[in-house]
Amino acid sequence: MNIIGEINCFGFCLRLSELAPYVALLIVIAIALFAARLIIKRPEQKLLTLIGAQLAILSAIAAAFYLMKCSDMLTIHLYLAYAGISLFLIFGVLRFYDRIMIKRLGARPAREMIGWTQEFVDKLTNATVYYYDSAVPKAFAAGRSIFLSLGLLELLNDDEIKAVLAHESWHIRNNSRMPFLKQLALMTFSPQRETDIEDLADYFAAKIAGSDALFSARSKLDKIFN
Ligand SMILES: [Zn+2]
Repeated sequence: MNIIGEINCFGFCLRLSELAPYVALLIVIAIALFAARLIIKRPEQKLLTLIGAQLAILSAIAAAFYLMKCSDMLTIHLYLAYAGISLFLIFGVLRFYDRIMIKRLGARPAREMIGWTQEFVDKLTNATVYYYDSAVPKAFAAGRSIFLSLGLLELLNDDEIKAVLAHESWHIRNNSRMPFLKQLALMTFSPQRETDIEDLADYFAAKIAGSDALFSARSKLDKIFN
């Protein structure tokens, strides 16, 4: 059976099944939550609304597959393979991303050069701060590591660096949840909203380092990248 034929078949079988109203309800809930996301302002609630919508879609997909359980369908095999490969990449490979980046960037522990950055992060989370040689001002977190480029350390003053470190520390504190969000986004074919997550990290950074430091760090970086 070809894919188009199978999709028609899903529609046909769903219409005949007594599960149809539930699947329709799940889809309506998902659409309503996606719409609500556009109105909601607080990043935390925005993210929760998105997760709710994605869970509704995932349940609708599971219900549709359950209906077809007796038939050997290419779409189900493809979907399961897609889920398995993304699961492997997200949970298996991404875990070692910081190890890979330390090697690739030739990163050095920041405590060798700017000890206070490590002491500052120690108060917020359990992570090692690294610096690496690049003129491009950049900071990112991976695994239990925070990376700062020399360009960033030159561009920002100490207060602004603290705001960046607090932002990245939030990522480290929440890193264990991110793979689940990524997986959910992939399995429901809905793009992950990085901005919600970045807003949450900024909210935390402003609380720790002050909104002035965060704002001036942001505007210095925006000036370079825009
Ligand atoms: Zn971030």
